[in-house]
Amino acid sequence: MLARLCDQTGLTRALESLPQRRTLIILNYHRIGNADETPFDSGVFSATAEQFDSHIVYLKRRFHISTLEEVFAILGGDSLRGTSVLITLDDGYLDNYTLAFPILRSHGVQAVFFLPTAFIGTGKLPWWDVIAYMLKKSVKKRIQLEYPEHAIFDLLGEGGRAVSTQILRVFTQPAVKDPERFLEELEKECEVSRPTSVDERCFLNWGEARDMQRGGMAFGSHTHSHEILTKLSPELQRKEARHSREILERELNRRVDILAYPVGLKHCFSAETIRALEETGYRAAFSFYGGSNRPGEIRPFDIRRFGVADLSYARFRLQTGFRAITGAGSF
Ligand SMILES: [Zn+2]
Repeated sequence: MLARLCDQTGLTRALESLPQRRTLIILNYHRIGNADETPFDSGVFSATAEQFDSHIVYLKRRFHISTLEEVFAILGGDSLRGTSVLITLDDGYLDNYTLAFPILRSHGVQAVFFLPTAFIGTGKLPWWDVIAYMLKKSVKKRIQLEYPEHAIFDLLGEGGRAVSTQILRVFTQPAVKDPERFLEELEKECEVSRPTSVDERCFLNWGEARDMQRGGMAFGSHTHSHEILTKLSPELQRKEARHSREILERELNRRVDILAYPVGLKHCFSAETIRALEETGYRAAFSFYGGSNRPGEIRPFDIRRFGVADLSYARFRLQTGFRAITGAGSF
């Protein structure tokens, strides 16, 4: 409502006429498409194809859209003239190829796709889709969990989407040291057998990734199995980093030395994680807890990204405009 009001009263336009900060804003999308049509996690949809197209048109009109090469140059000390925007997409769902890629290519814009290599070309279901599926099909409407601590979730009262978001948040917490135990308990409580894969392909395949690369897109690692890195030993963290990088470089025949941390919140990577990445040949990594990147203040292993989540066009404009003049912020 606030965004619509700002749009109607001309406040958004006024905001857009203010001088932009010299800053690098990195936007992160996940799935593109209709969130209501999936039996899995609706919360992982960032925009419909139409919304995504309108975002790209808007960004291109207002800002310089950066390429990965330009980001490396900024990391190396190149200065920025105004606000630059880098577009990134995580997880490598098939819709990144069928919906996002044609839109990006039609506008001549590059995006960086971060791929979890174990899922590429498969119908494997990642944990967030498994959790959301069980909740959508749950026989019980009142879910009581005892691990990692006693908690009750009301699917009828609070709504499936809200409960799904809450339970996914709990799952990613450091207190859940045994993710398998959490999933088993949820499976029993929902009285739904846990799916591990589906017959149809959920993720883009390597041929499609190479097609995207030929079309100007760039790639990075999102680890191999998309586990939260801080829940793994240093040895396993190195393995995730090394293995995914080897697969990406072999399949794409190009150097890959950037990574986006799975989940990407502050507790999802540590000094140990950064050491594992440095030891396995990475030169930069991207987080996901918000914030923009001011030249001279950018930490190469904590490059900040803002998540885009199912926003109206008015809100997307207001939010992006606000970030461009303040260099930070969210509402
Ligand atoms: Zn991810």
